[in-house]
Amino acid sequence: MSEKNAAKALKEKLFYKKVNGRQGADETLLKSVDDYCEGYKKFLNTSKTEREAAKNAIEMAKKHGFAPFEQGKKYNAGDKVYVNNRGKTVAFIVIGKQPAEKGVNITAAHIDSPRLDLKQNPLYEEIELALFKTHYYGGIRKYQWTAVPLALHGVFALKDGSVIEVSLGEKDDEPKFVVNDLLPHLATEQNKRTLADGIKGEELNVLVGSHPFKDDSESELVKLNVLKLLNEKYGITETDFLSAELELVPAFKASDIGFDRSMIGSYGQDDRVCAYPALTAVLEVENPEKTAIAILTDKEEIGSDGNTGLNSDFLRYVVTDIAAMQGGDGTVALRNSKCLSADVNAGIDPTFQDVMERKNAARLNYGVVVTKFTGSRGKAGTSDASAEYVAEIRAMLDKADITWQTGELGKVDIGGGGTVAMYIANMGVDVVDLGVPVLSMHAPFETTAKFDVYMCYRAMYEFMK
Ligand code: MN
Ligand code: MN
Repeated sequence: MSEKNAAKALKEKLFYKKVNGRQGADETLLKSVDDYCEGYKKFLNTSKTEREAAKNAIEMAKKHGFAPFEQGKKYNAGDKVYVNNRGKTVAFIVIGKQPAEKGVNITAAHIDSPRLDLKQNPLYEEIELALFKTHYYGGIRKYQWTAVPLALHGVFALKDGSVIEVSLGEKDDEPKFVVNDLLPHLATEQNKRTLADGIKGEELNVLVGSHPFKDDSESELVKLNVLKLLNEKYGITETDFLSAELELVPAFKASDIGFDRSMIGSYGQDDRVCAYPALTAVLEVENPEKTAIAILTDKEEIGSDGNTGLNSDFLRYVVTDIAAMQGGDGTVALRNSKCLSADVNAGIDPTFQDVMERKNAARLNYGVVVTKFTGSRGKAGTSDASAEYVAEIRAMLDKADITWQTGELGKVDIGGGGTVAMYIANMGVDVVDLGVPVLSMHAPFETTAKFDVYMCYRAMYEFMK
């Protein structure tokens, strides 16, 4: 053997090699990838808010034999139940053969996405146009949300306890809404603003009407006409906005991206690109050794606080209830539990490679991404998974022939971010982040690779089965 060949052989043996999963993938696998992503696109199109995602997930689960968890009822291995937290966060559970005290396997993903929420008193009229004031939800780049068609989703909760659902702008024949921006001809001053301030929060005003109610003796006739239409359609008055949750989201549908259709473009892929895999995986789990829990959660994009966020005690009580049902202790169960915190990571964008450190950044088509830590400024605000636990996950992924890579959220000093991992870790659970790399994260239209979505699903199933 020549020196050169010896080096090559030794490299093979000693170097860590990342692989593009599409290279060498056989037709059967690629067909599975494509088929799986058709279902994912449907889920994206019908689940634009956490409420809709939770509702659709429950409907899917019921078809797979899941029933609402009943306190005090005895469940046996193989039973499938779910706990619905206010229609925004849901835990899907398959009872394991071993008692929960031995530990449960949790996958967690969030179903809320950045968007424009209506303010409590949103409707107003200026120069005979009617508009909504908004307060954006989650980390958005505000300039990206102008001049794109928006749909209105959410609920009016009325004083009599009834809740009126709203979804307008998704169907082709339904009206859309829009935040307008300046024309380039008159944007000289605006162009001097920094990109962060290009559009300010109080400029994210949504156009909702221009037709005046027929009566020339009164003011605010366009606003009046809008309220008249809302009253006819939903039975509401302006006061009912005070107890509403109405959200403007991009109106466009999920679609394939690229000549080769290898990618998906859609609103809300962070984090439905992990929520859908966690859900579809738990729906297929039958008689697991350990209890499997897939939790789809709300409020991640605003810090996980609140009673539907994962920084609440909801998950703790879910695990505690199962342990108690078996005569066990919830704290012991949590201490022995393991979790995949399923959230997206940033993929390297060819145009913006500077913000990434290439050796450690995630790439499209390189499979599901395992992120040991997120955080910022020296790993602050994260759960840094233990080496031992990462080794366990590594072994699981390799054994199941799942294509995976590692990732980090950008160069060390550039920025950073967090996921729900730390809130689950704080309960004593072993947690590591695992998810799908995304381009244009938090934009109205985000891009993922189909191959990675499928690998995420396979990882979720392997973990919970
Ligand atoms: Mn996320
Ligand atoms: Mn996010």
